[in-house]
Amino acid sequence: MARIVMKFGGTSMAGIERIRAVAARVKREAEAGNEVAVVVSAMAGETDRLVQLCREAAALYDQREYDVVVASGEQVTSGLLAITLQGMGLNAKSYMGWQLPIRASGHASGLIEGIDVEVLERVFEGGGIAVIPGFQGVTAEGAVATLGRGGSDTSAVALAAAMKADRCDIYTDVDGVYTTDPRIVPRARKIDTITYEEMLELASVGAKVLQTRSVGLAMRTGMPLTVLSSFEDLPGTRIVGDDQIEESDMERNVITGIAHDKNEAMITLTGLPDSPGTVAAIFAPLAEEGVNVDMIVQSVPRPGEPSVLTFTVPTASLAHTVEALKKGRETIGFGEILTDTDVVKVSAVGVGMRSNAGVAATMFKTLADRGINILAITTSEIKVSVLIPEDYTELAVRVLHSAYGLDAEPQA
Ligand code: ADP
Ligand code: ASP
Ligand code: MG
Repeated sequence: MARIVMKFGGTSMAGIERIRAVAARVKREAEAGNEVAVVVSAMAGETDRLVQLCREAAALYDQREYDVVVASGEQVTSGLLAITLQGMGLNAKSYMGWQLPIRASGHASGLIEGIDVEVLERVFEGGGIAVIPGFQGVTAEGAVATLGRGGSDTSAVALAAAMKADRCDIYTDVDGVYTTDPRIVPRARKIDTITYEEMLELASVGAKVLQTRSVGLAMRTGMPLTVLSSFEDLPGTRIVGDDQIEESDMERNVITGIAHDKNEAMITLTGLPDSPGTVAAIFAPLAEEGVNVDMIVQSVPRPGEPSVLTFTVPTASLAHTVEALKKGRETIGFGEILTDTDVVKVSAVGVGMRSNAGVAATMFKTLADRGINILAITTSEIKVSVLIPEDYTELAVRVLHSAYGLDAEPQA
């Protein structure tokens, strides 16, 4: 007998027929003698629809009320799954975030502070199945909080850690983690096992198959995580610690995967004074506003001459960032402020990069050969990212995937 968390994403929950298929999977695990908690997402497209309604109600909507609205999608699917499971003769009940409770702080991208498991323990003792809405928690004030887009993955891992589950299975609309988004590159290959560290990097640079925070949490708690298909019985991808990857596997490819992120906006400041404190004067107010700056490039033509600084922020933070910079114009002393949202960040990730030179050079040459202009670059120990014009997204992902030897063999 094992204790498991099964999480089902939006496509898997989209409609009663699919919910029945989900229920059949849950039934199978429960009847095998396992203690099962199920975490569900809203039906595909529902959260987008709810977000849009908030925007229509008021451009600058209140985040507390946004949470009240968007958390409702998961309430519907958890109730529907519990009803379906009951219809199959199973002892299942839904428990909202406030009923466990899942304690969270902050609105719209709230953080899980802790999860009380007494209610769940009683459910398991009574041989029951708990169905829990993902993406939501409750604040100290008793208000509903949501955990940021894609947050049901984090709910699932946090719940698994709190209830000391043996594993957390993430069921989605693809049958595992691929070397890149299989919807963009049909020749992407399924990865059997990937380290937490690599998955964390891939997720943080745009592989939205798992919310980044869920991977960080699984890594910190050592929770075995598997990404599987809701629709087919296939093995899936296991996300594990470094120590569980065979030496031979690690040597397999220098690059594990390619990801892209269109959610980046580029800002360029011209005519900056070439003096100590300029960069600090730019970024300090942005930090105060809570803006996450990602890539940064500064160029100083000659010492003493005005310089140019380019950096990126999430598209949603662009308006705030420009406003904060304009306010600080006197202190910073820049000439022009230019913005561009038609950009994409493309990244290559792999632990093999630590021991192999030339990964960045391959990226630059591959893109240059296709006439793709690089606007900014960042690197870390296991990642190289470039910012390029958005129109080239698919081409860049595809050619880099081939250049790093990741393409699957064509089917005979
Ligand atoms: P869910 O609703 O189940 O949480 P998501 O849409 O959040 O599903 O995540 C699954 C999607 O992630 C896939 O449909 C796929 O298009 C996308 N994706 C992006 N990068 C990858 C990757 N490297 N491997 C697999 N899927 C990926
Ligand atoms: N329904 C939420 C979203 O679409 C949370 C999730 O599905 O993970 O972002
Ligand atoms: Mg998701």
